[in-house]
Amino acid sequence: MKNIRKDFPILKRKINGKDLVYLDNAATTQKPFQVIEKITDYYSNHNANIHRGIHRLSEEATEEYEETRSKTAKFLNANTNEIVFTKNTTESLNLLAYSVFRTLKKGDEIVLSIMEHHSNIVPWQMLIEKGVKLKFTDINGDGSLNINHLEKLVTKKTKIVSITQTSNVLGTVNPIKEITKIAHDAGAIMIVDGAQSVPHMSVNVKKLGCDFLAFSGHKMLGPMGVGLLYGCEDSLRNITPFLRGGDMIKEVHQQETVWNDIPWKFEAGTPNVADVIGFGAALDYINKIGMNNIETHEKMLTKYVIQQLIPIKGLTIHGTSRKRGSAVSFSLAGVHPHDVATILDSEGIAIRSGHLCAQPLMERLGVSAVSRASFYLYNTKEEINKLVNCIEKVKNIFRV
Ligand SMILES: *Cc1c(COP(=O)(O)O)cnc(C)c1O
Repeated sequence: MKNIRKDFPILKRKINGKDLVYLDNAATTQKPFQVIEKITDYYSNHNANIHRGIHRLSEEATEEYEETRSKTAKFLNANTNEIVFTKNTTESLNLLAYSVFRTLKKGDEIVLSIMEHHSNIVPWQMLIEKGVKLKFTDINGDGSLNINHLEKLVTKKTKIVSITQTSNVLGTVNPIKEITKIAHDAGAIMIVDGAQSVPHMSVNVKKLGCDFLAFSGHKMLGPMGVGLLYGCEDSLRNITPFLRGGDMIKEVHQQETVWNDIPWKFEAGTPNVADVIGFGAALDYINKIGMNNIETHEKMLTKYVIQQLIPIKGLTIHGTSRKRGSAVSFSLAGVHPHDVATILDSEGIAIRSGHLCAQPLMERLGVSAVSRASFYLYNTKEEINKLVNCIEKVKNIFRV
């Protein structure tokens, strides 16, 4: 992990005369020059529309685009035709919600958890107008998922279970394999929000056994505008496409259309070719470092930051589950999270504050907002020291 910071041009930036300390990786990660250059190279040398032209540029663009699909499949231990490109995790989950809209009926139920990101709640609320019920699994005191509660909620009425693998607020890593078994035993489809897990730990979809897994390229060194959806072959074949138009078809007649094969039947219109190829470079970068090394580095940082935060009087960490990722949310008694973030920013430290796109969880925790520091492979212990010193400074300013 020693020399990787030099690969990230933005890490040289000064904010208010101070070195940037970027601790908002759960919102989006920074990009190495390998990714930035790949996108520039695409537009400088290869740009063409894909799957259509029988000319050199189109063939090159198609080949690199499809190669990113195989790289993604390999990364997750999936088959190449099980990977769909979307815009982000949110679109991947919307694709699923729209695709099952016609098949779910009044009385059917969808089981979520109270720790879900808005993008794994709001699309499902659309089904309420069809008479479908949404049920929310509660959490335990340490921020882990209450599996007993989940087991009670999942019944024969349950058609979909959709749960995050890692919480973007609590950091909790949920036992997806176990939850998938509960869902499948009841005959439900299992969907995983992998936005905070896939970038930070090895995820093997065949081992998990889930039907679908959604995540975003921009949270794992890739450019914005690339979302991923894994769907196991049978599950992908069973659902109808959500966006319709060019490229997702085999035959079009005046009154009817034959869909293309999976995965293309879900990719209507000209896709984000340049950024998908950029995402391919991000995967190459991550593979070169090694997912295990990234995991080990983040575990070390997480342990260190928690050790440093626990002794701070008036500071509460939200989420202390033993199985956790590197997003660490906290409250400082007597100080609004926005004030914490503003003072940290004056020292060049970027953290998140607010409801973190998880308002039902905020309500459950009895807070309206929290502060969150989240880490990735380029962060260091020195940066954590700066964070902790600056939190002490906040306490002095507010005399708490
Ligand atoms: C960021 C995030 C999302 C949404 O990702 P987008 O790229 O904004 O669509 C969904 N779920 C979790 C857990 C996230 O952290």
